[in-house]
Amino acid sequence: MNDFSGTGIDDRWILSTRGNKNAVDPLRPYAWLVEKERAASGKIEDTAIIFLTNRECQFHCLMCDLWKNTTHGSVPVGAIPDQVEWALSQLPPATHVKLYNSGSFFDERAIPFADYQRIASLVSNFETVVVESHPRLITEKCLHFRDMLKPRLQVALGLETVHTGVLRKLNKRMTLEDFTNSVNFLTRHEISTRAFILLRLPFLSESEGIYWAERSIEFAFRIGVECCTVIPVRSGNGAMDLLQENGLFSPPDIRSLEKVLEFGINLHAGRVFADVWDIGLFSSCDHCIEQRKNRIIEMNLNQRMAPSVTCGCD
Ligand code: SF4
Ligand SMILES: [Zn+2]
Repeated sequence: MNDFSGTGIDDRWILSTRGNKNAVDPLRPYAWLVEKERAASGKIEDTAIIFLTNRECQFHCLMCDLWKNTTHGSVPVGAIPDQVEWALSQLPPATHVKLYNSGSFFDERAIPFADYQRIASLVSNFETVVVESHPRLITEKCLHFRDMLKPRLQVALGLETVHTGVLRKLNKRMTLEDFTNSVNFLTRHEISTRAFILLRLPFLSESEGIYWAERSIEFAFRIGVECCTVIPVRSGNGAMDLLQENGLFSPPDIRSLEKVLEFGINLHAGRVFADVWDIGLFSSCDHCIEQRKNRIIEMNLNQRMAPSVTCGCD
């Protein structure tokens, strides 16, 4: 029985709290879109994001809800390139592409090596390809994929937090040393990196959440990460809801996200983005939510401060 202090958080408990997965089709991505992002060059350019339908990640992180749109077993060879081809036929042109597979691109059971060449051919007209991976799955395989690609490769890695006590409780099975080694390996081989950083993990107060997100951004840039994306933590995956019910987790406030984004941009160490997906979850004020969301989008795109929003809720 979990006492919710963090000690009983393991695969078994996390899996036991989950609800049902959504119905997905292994021959279609579960989402696809084009959005604007500020590129490393400083230009604001269209970026396609393809959310590939793939097998569930082999890790079971406490805060993760990506398993909801995954298959029970591996998808057949050819399914992932078919999904990429289909999504690209639906989307308007873009300069960069992100292939996110709800796990690790370099997990052989998720994306077979036999699919790499066709994927590489399909994305040959883009300038950058971004894939995601657990830091412990960064191996020579990344170099094989890089060598097949015409575009530059960037790998997005979940740093989550540099609070080592909380990182352990996330059940991510990763240390800061693992993360650093992976970034060093990729940087040495001319593959850039993007760090996902979480705002207000469980067991942290609002101000601690801000503090540790800021320390995490500093750490990421110090070890050579090229850009950071700050993601506010949400419930909805079972485990996080239970922690919330027991007073061990609360979603962050949108104003904290603004603060962390301001901090990261002001470091002038690399691009810093705040994730705005479902951002309404992080505000209880109908008066300023749109303005705050637009402010964050503006700061994401321009990488400089935008005028603050003032509202009675402050
Ligand atoms: S490694 Fe990433 S995809 Fe896998 S469970 Fe953890 S957060 Fe989710
Ligand atoms: Zn307000």
